[in-house]
Amino acid sequence: MAYSEKTRTAYQEDLKGIEDAGLFKKERFIHAPQNAEIEVEFPEGSALKSVINMCANNYLGLSGNQEVIDAAHAGLDSRGYGMSSVRFICGTQDIHRELEQKMTEFLGTEDTILFPSCMDANAGVFEAVLNEEDVMIADRLVHASIIDGMRLCKAMNDSYKHSDMKHLEKKLILHQDKRNRLIITDGVFSMDGDLAKLDEIVALAEKYDAMVFVDESHASGFIGRTGRGTHEHCGVLGKIDIVTTTFGKALGGASGGCVSGRRELVELCRQKARPYLFSNTVAPVIVSGTLRVMEIVSGSTERRDKLEENTTYWRQLLDDAGFDVKSGDSPIVPVMLYNAKLAQDVATDLFAEGIYAVGFFFPVVPQGQARIRTQLSAAHEKHHLDKAIAAFTTVGEKYGILGLGKQELIEKFGM
Ligand SMILES: *Cc1c(COP(=O)(O)O)cnc(C)c1O
Repeated sequence: MAYSEKTRTAYQEDLKGIEDAGLFKKERFIHAPQNAEIEVEFPEGSALKSVINMCANNYLGLSGNQEVIDAAHAGLDSRGYGMSSVRFICGTQDIHRELEQKMTEFLGTEDTILFPSCMDANAGVFEAVLNEEDVMIADRLVHASIIDGMRLCKAMNDSYKHSDMKHLEKKLILHQDKRNRLIITDGVFSMDGDLAKLDEIVALAEKYDAMVFVDESHASGFIGRTGRGTHEHCGVLGKIDIVTTTFGKALGGASGGCVSGRRELVELCRQKARPYLFSNTVAPVIVSGTLRVMEIVSGSTERRDKLEENTTYWRQLLDDAGFDVKSGDSPIVPVMLYNAKLAQDVATDLFAEGIYAVGFFFPVVPQGQARIRTQLSAAHEKHHLDKAIAAFTTVGEKYGILGLGKQELIEKFGM
């Protein structure tokens, strides 16, 4: 027997190790579309509980939007369920090209190529456009999918301290002998909700002859005055060489992603990127839904503006209640607790109070940086946020954390 009792026991011990370290992830089952209020089964087998959702990437509230659902239905009827092929054999429909053109226009780039996910976009893009004569210089807090993509690429791998422009400049000087230098960053960093300094990054790229890559997964659709992203916010639209983003967050929340940027780089992805060549692309039903999403976000800033209002309101509520909140410009609002167990306990109590928010701690964030990450949505109404702050306040009082700053929290609970 290949999977012997000994093998099984060894794997069971691995799992127990994960559980003992407090790192075991248990999933919560939602019995409804994604929305501001959801019906959740947790723990598994228990009765459904209605909670306010403060942890989805449903920034624009489009995941359960009726217009998007209708467009997806229409696409299902007119283009069928699936392609049963990768793009370059017989898996490309007119609507795939249409969505690529729409993304190019929206992101202010030259061309776009769809991928099954942004994880796949990041896995494929570096290897397709760089070789051993090049260097990748990445912010140290980039998303895991970028790190994996860089591992698959033969270019030299280097990094700079998070958002440290002096350090980035040093690295650019150090690597002047390379054929190409690619600066790699997230647009919005998902744990702290802070924005990359893209204006300064572009200036350095121009000074030291480098290209710029930005992953806009937590930005596309809502950051910047018209929601085009971090490059719009920082005034560098048209100056980013490679943008990757996902359709699995603000842009409808189903799945799919893309690489958008310089014409030649996108064409190289079409010729060489392995997740593009060897995996089916986005299903027609999702392409149809996403096309409708892009019409909605291009046609009006209403949702993006409501998200901004909600974010400002929520930050103010947390501040007034006496929580230690990380400041920032994005709808990712981290409530800092520093201690991992405290973050877990607070999240558990919040759930009991009808608020679904997740505690993050090492290794997802650095040691001693535990927090509850809250995320806003245009689907939230003021009454949701008022109810949420009441629950946060109840739990905050229980643990005696209200009004305490960083040092006081660390003194009281440890790191
Ligand atoms: C969520 C996320 C991804 C992955 O997107 P998928 O389309 O779900 O694969 C990639 N990069 C960043 C920065 C993300 O936040």
